[in-house]
Amino acid sequence: MNTLPNIIKNQRRFFKSQQTKDVTYRLKLLKTLKKEILEHEQNIFDALKKDFRKSEFESYLSEFGLVIAELNLAIKNLKKWSKPKRIKSSLLTFPSKDYIYKEPYGTVLVIAPWNYPFLLAMEPLIMAIAAGNTVVLKPSELTKHTSKVITKIIQNTFTKTMAISIEGGIETSAALLAEQWDYIFFTGSTKVGKIIAQAAAKHLTPVTLELGGKSPCIVDDTVNLKLVARRLVWGKLLNGGQTCIAADYVIAKSNIKHKLIDALKTEIIRRYGKNSKLSPDLPRIINTKNTKRLADLLKDTNIVFGGEVDIDECYVSPTIVDSPSLDSKIMQEEIFGPILPILTYETNEDMEQIIWSLERPLSLYVFSNQKSFVKEVIEKFSYGGGVINDLLIHFGNHRLPFGGIGASGMGKYHGKHGYDTFSNIKPIIKRSNWFDPSFRYAPYKGKMYLLKKVFKYFG
Ligand code: NAD
Repeated sequence: MNTLPNIIKNQRRFFKSQQTKDVTYRLKLLKTLKKEILEHEQNIFDALKKDFRKSEFESYLSEFGLVIAELNLAIKNLKKWSKPKRIKSSLLTFPSKDYIYKEPYGTVLVIAPWNYPFLLAMEPLIMAIAAGNTVVLKPSELTKHTSKVITKIIQNTFTKTMAISIEGGIETSAALLAEQWDYIFFTGSTKVGKIIAQAAAKHLTPVTLELGGKSPCIVDDTVNLKLVARRLVWGKLLNGGQTCIAADYVIAKSNIKHKLIDALKTEIIRRYGKNSKLSPDLPRIINTKNTKRLADLLKDTNIVFGGEVDIDECYVSPTIVDSPSLDSKIMQEEIFGPILPILTYETNEDMEQIIWSLERPLSLYVFSNQKSFVKEVIEKFSYGGGVINDLLIHFGNHRLPFGGIGASGMGKYHGKHGYDTFSNIKPIIKRSNWFDPSFRYAPYKGKMYLLKKVFKYFG
């Protein structure tokens, strides 16, 4: 019977058989997964288009291409990553050989969001499999077409004892969370992240929480505004603004605010036309509920560009809001749509006050040519990661760990960092027997002086 407890029981049994510890077996699975994904390339693009009218270009750039790159990386490096690593011994443990072993956790649960539905389901799956875990994946219920393709790919690649995709909504998530797991990897909202953390705490299950929040973008008055507008509009409107690391709002030096707004307007029109509803490149909002939520955020704000909403069409035009107050709704919740509030600062203290007033963000961006200002912002504020003079691109380097802090999440992944996330790091010392000084053994009388000396010199 394919009940949830049975699926988990069978995965645990399979895990205990030790087959997933075999690196050749894992490599074979990753190669089959790559082949399946490549064969489904067009299906993936079609599904993303049906789910929220995402263009093929953006689907390749921000989902398909990144997944294939992650697979290639894992296939190329798996043997190296999985080998026990010899570590320099300490004189305190002499004589010994010291190692770091990496072992899979066991049976892991991956819960994915809808906004990059293919990427954010596949990327953790790839690294969980590479590290030798069995996986139960729950893709998002809001992107049904993409979730179906994901399920098909997983069915074609894995036995159910190795990996399975279980589609469903909140009830399915709740049923999954009621079970015991060896690791939970969750990507989604801060609100649901707290539910996941509570469920994990019941069994002391380790978790990675990849959450969201309000990521600021600071623009000072030493910049080329045309270039800033170009990069800002790209990073804000990619995926229709539904990106966890999109700039949620701008804090601009007050003397350049009007010029920046003009540059942003020009850039939006250049990229998406005078009527962006007709642009094939602007994805739609995921559903009518979120479109209404965005319309609600715009109420009583000072809209200086855009502001068009069509609930039935799940369309919100690229919109600029001038100087909303910090206690307005638009500044209190993550926007997650093509709406950009512009706040201003006169002094650095004004800017700091805005950032300190909100939870620690997933990303922070600074456009500036002042080295000292950039250094101060990097060192002063706590946030998941960021970019100077651009947006989003820190996500694209697999050598950089990616994740949040505080309300924006815990734990990091990407590339080898993802492999390590899904591995229990196990230190092992292999002790030699040829030398066994009696010093550490009782009776201790008369040894204190020597003990202090040993710690002083070798500790
Ligand atoms: P969400 O939290 O509503 O849903 C995420 C997943 O949790 C879905 O699979 C959903 O079925 C499940 N879920 C929803 N409610 C649940 C509940 N009450 N109990 C158990 N499970 C539940 O998030 P979303 O709307 O799919 O995605 C948008 C959010 O995700 C944004 O806040 C965004 O910033 C964040 N996000 C973060 C990252 C990151 O890498 N840090 C990436 C993408 C999205």
